[in-house]
Amino acid sequence: MSPEREIIEFDVLVVGAGPAGLAVAYHLRQLLDRSGRKDASIAVLEKGKEIGAHIISGAVFDPRGIDELMPDWLTKGAPVESKVEEDHVYYLTRKWKLGLPIIPPPLRNAGNYIISLNKFVLWLAELVEDSDVDIFAGFSGAGLLIENGQVVGVRTGDKGVDRQGQAKGNYEPGIDIRAKLTVLAEGARGSLTKQLVERFGLDVGRNPQVYSVGIKEVWEVPGSDEHRGRVVHTMGFPLASKEFGGGFIYNMDRDQVSLGLVVGLDYQDPLLDPHRKFQQFKEHPLVRSAIEGGRLVAYGAKAIPEGGYWAMPQCYFAGGMIVGDSGGLLNSMRLKGIHLALKSGMLAAEAALEAMRSNDYSASRMQRFEVLVKDSWIKDELWKVRNFHQGFNKGLWRGLLHAGLQMLTRGRGLSNRYASEPGHKRMCMRPEFPASYDPNSEVKFDQMLTFDKLTDVYNSGTAHEEDQPVHLVVLEPDLCHTRCTEEYGNPCQYFCPAAVYSMETNEDGQSRLAIAASNCVHCKTCDIMDPYQIINWIPPEGGGGPDYKGL
Ligand code: SF4
Repeated sequence: MSPEREIIEFDVLVVGAGPAGLAVAYHLRQLLDRSGRKDASIAVLEKGKEIGAHIISGAVFDPRGIDELMPDWLTKGAPVESKVEEDHVYYLTRKWKLGLPIIPPPLRNAGNYIISLNKFVLWLAELVEDSDVDIFAGFSGAGLLIENGQVVGVRTGDKGVDRQGQAKGNYEPGIDIRAKLTVLAEGARGSLTKQLVERFGLDVGRNPQVYSVGIKEVWEVPGSDEHRGRVVHTMGFPLASKEFGGGFIYNMDRDQVSLGLVVGLDYQDPLLDPHRKFQQFKEHPLVRSAIEGGRLVAYGAKAIPEGGYWAMPQCYFAGGMIVGDSGGLLNSMRLKGIHLALKSGMLAAEAALEAMRSNDYSASRMQRFEVLVKDSWIKDELWKVRNFHQGFNKGLWRGLLHAGLQMLTRGRGLSNRYASEPGHKRMCMRPEFPASYDPNSEVKFDQMLTFDKLTDVYNSGTAHEEDQPVHLVVLEPDLCHTRCTEEYGNPCQYFCPAAVYSMETNEDGQSRLAIAASNCVHCKTCDIMDPYQIINWIPPEGGGGPDYKGL
């Protein structure tokens, strides 16, 4: 007989222990305590095996959100790598760099801090746990519990299921975690948020969300402390002028350097490989000189929501709210979202308190959250950059012109709302696009400066239980070796930064898609960029995935 499904109940359930989710829990606990509701229960669900394991960001941190959440955050021991001491912006060609004599205001970071978000959430989670919030790490949300059109909690994934979907000896059914309010704080392209947006039509009338993928490494470079607090942003090489994105180098504490490349997931070249572009980025003299003599210590990748104000889904629903990256809260001009995540978490906590007081969790009551967001500095900040990403649809140079115009017109530019389309629709079919490189050519990774994907995955600490259902569900696998090979050349082999997908030929000469799911670093690029939208990323068994440290 299969074990019975356990049911547990909380007043408020937060899915995701990133900055937004932890801000909800921290602020709501305080509000409840102050209003004499100490008995109200809050739980946070986190799919990483421990808090922070799946958290990665650049990150130059604007303290505006944390200053409001916890004015004494620095004296409470928040881990900070450095105050920003210098800003530099360069345009790169393959060999040369051209420094901007004046740093554009959105890229000025005086008063900001360089942090490891991964360390930051670990610190914040301790304070949240100390304030009597239950945090369940290692549990993924497999599905939403919906009754009479209202979300009433989350069912966690089953544990102990084999690759064929059969229960193993250690089988444990997922738990039904029921809650009066469910707050989704899953990060970009959250799997529950995706289900919810589709089911409730929360994106109707909005621009489609568009994303970038950020690929990052941390290096230990002896002597680099001398430049602690230096922030470098780049445009140009290795991206073509039609490709959105740029690079960053941040000098952290203890001789550590954080560097990465952000690549817009709305590129045209079906063979574009963001990981390969990142390796080319490191070969540029500017980047090479920042890490020369050092060693790679950590690697990771994540999707970033870039669509801005017009692409934010409706952030409330019957029984809950959507916060942080899941709600598309990112200032893509500044490439910053942590402060917005923290603030949205605080506002969600305030809306939650009002709903609990009236014991009303209907959509019309939860709409209060949207009102709070629109009355806050989140709206002010995002409104001023509402057309930023869309301005780059025709490439870097026109994008910079649009950005300048938008800065002069409080975000308007040439029209109040620029048109947008999902990034995967911009990918060209192979016959229409001259190959940017020969995908069959041998790539020379020297394993000193440049690394192949598998070496990088090793440095992400990624591990999954091997004997479990594949968590990358290809809805029409026959399409891969027929239409996709012919039309796009199987771009999943290139856009995945963790070498999960490859085309293999069997003894009969038939080709088929092979999926090394255990390499997956949970960046969601495949779910976003697949041209046929037939890859569905679902959470693997709880606890599986990267084990990010210091990212
Ligand atoms: Fe990212 Fe998908 Fe590759 Fe996993 S399989 S690392 S989610 S692109």
